[in-house]
Amino acid sequence: MMAKSWELSKHMAIDKTYKIQALVLRKTKLGERDLIVTMLASSGELVRGVAKGARKPGSAMAARLELFNVVDVMLAKGRNLDVVTDVRLAADGAHNAYGLEQAACASAIAELLAAVCQEGLSQPRLFDLTRVALGALAEQGSDQYAQITAAALVKIVSSVGFRPSLLECQACGTPIDLDVAGARVPFSVSEGGATCASCSRESECFFVEAQTLAWAHALLFTRFADIPSLEMDVTSAFGVLSLMKSWIEFHVGRSMKSMNYLFASGLF
Ligand SMILES: [Zn+2]
Repeated sequence: MMAKSWELSKHMAIDKTYKIQALVLRKTKLGERDLIVTMLASSGELVRGVAKGARKPGSAMAARLELFNVVDVMLAKGRNLDVVTDVRLAADGAHNAYGLEQAACASAIAELLAAVCQEGLSQPRLFDLTRVALGALAEQGSDQYAQITAAALVKIVSSVGFRPSLLECQACGTPIDLDVAGARVPFSVSEGGATCASCSRESECFFVEAQTLAWAHALLFTRFADIPSLEMDVTSAFGVLSLMKSWIEFHVGRSMKSMNYLFASGLF
């Protein structure tokens, strides 16, 4: 009888823990000693867990839970929040050696992910996409950081269903000629993107450089490793970042504070 109930409680204990591979997106303080860690699981789901004692000096757990690291995490089901019981760095998972510029870029990507991902909603492409983007930030030169970030934002919003119309009118589908040097195209954030002259009369639009839309389209369809071959300059990348900021803030419904920092920091 004793053995049986022990077996039962052992199984219950097993059912209450689970292991995930995840990317650390955000850390918030909880009380004096603990952290709430927000993570993007490999399934694309948002997972939150309490790392108890992680704010004590010299905590090994805290060192592994640095922002943007990819970690293998064991969690125990809790009544409100799950509890992080073990953390190991995944192979090539350490991204905590970022400099200021890389961290500023990664923060914008992390803020978007924290906004578009949800607990219990599987979006499996997001994890690999982000992991490759963070790897590109670590490996490529500083002249590519803004381009990598712009690409990540365009790819992430497109992958979660908010892809802007870039090459054709969002209302009537007429192709938009982006090859005219110096051309400006009406763009409606609320209606879905690039807009032809005739439909622009019925949509709330602002003007965007045609080149910015062409770059956004190029970034959407270029692998991170190939971004340097686009020979896109930082100013063009910031054009796309600025457009994406308006786009994200409208469609995701939150202010992208980390992007404000990106524009105002003077790092680029
Ligand atoms: Zn139209």
